[in-house]
Amino acid sequence: MIELSGVHKSFGTLEVLHDVTLTVPAGSVTVILGPSGSGKSTLLRCINHLEKVDRGRVRVDGELIGYRRAGNKLYELSERHILKQRARIGFVFQTFNLFPHLTALENVIEAPGKQARERGLELLDRVGLADKAHAYPRQLSGGQQQRVAIARALALEPKLVLFDEPTSALDPELVGEVLDVMRDLARAGTTMIVVTHEIGFAREVADTIVFLDEGRLLEQGPPAEVLDHPRHERTRAFLSKVL
Ligand code: ADP
Ligand code: MG
Repeated sequence: MIELSGVHKSFGTLEVLHDVTLTVPAGSVTVILGPSGSGKSTLLRCINHLEKVDRGRVRVDGELIGYRRAGNKLYELSERHILKQRARIGFVFQTFNLFPHLTALENVIEAPGKQARERGLELLDRVGLADKAHAYPRQLSGGQQQRVAIARALALEPKLVLFDEPTSALDPELVGEVLDVMRDLARAGTTMIVVTHEIGFAREVADTIVFLDEGRLLEQGPPAEVLDHPRHERTRAFLSKVL
């Protein structure tokens, strides 16, 4: 499971995350909603130490992210150890970030070898793209590219997959195929944290929805609670715009 406790993050004088505490049980799906600029991407980036938190802790499977403890002191991990931790956390971006000069299969596999190749093909099959293994990104639609990116995020058998607005850059008719893949992952028990404005997906797939507003976690609960009976006026105002 993933635990954030008392996470604070500022950029200069701008406080972007204020005392965020969140627990994501293994095998569950958490959807993060919130207006633009509320700190959603920063929150995801703090989880895999792409950003360093100013205060608070992030733990994945009990392991402190980015730091090691010696006595009662904390030391930042070496770059090598940070990369190792990061490799166990899949990250799917709004823009697919595939390597343009590599095929779909080559984008998915991390190392050469027959085993990696078979595993890569298996993952492409899982996202419905077995027949596109040898296509280059430019030969694929946006939806297909994002599905390759999801396959890649799964390649190292992550403990957790983070999605940052994975369908926001897609033409509307391509959104469904990506959400279908994500729904399958959720059913298979993948631990996921998803930033999205797709409320239908959130309602159907999320175990927990959290609402972030100006860096504060204002609401947290099952979809029926947060979407249908929000406690805060800010949540109601946000939902009235996106629903
Ligand atoms: P969201 O994903 O909810 O739209 P972000 O986490 O991207 O929000 O950004 C939250 C706030 O932090 C915004 O005001 C943004 O401009 C600011 N911000 C994000 N990253 C940086 C950075 N590296 N340096 C300075 N400000 C940043
Ligand atoms: Mg963002």
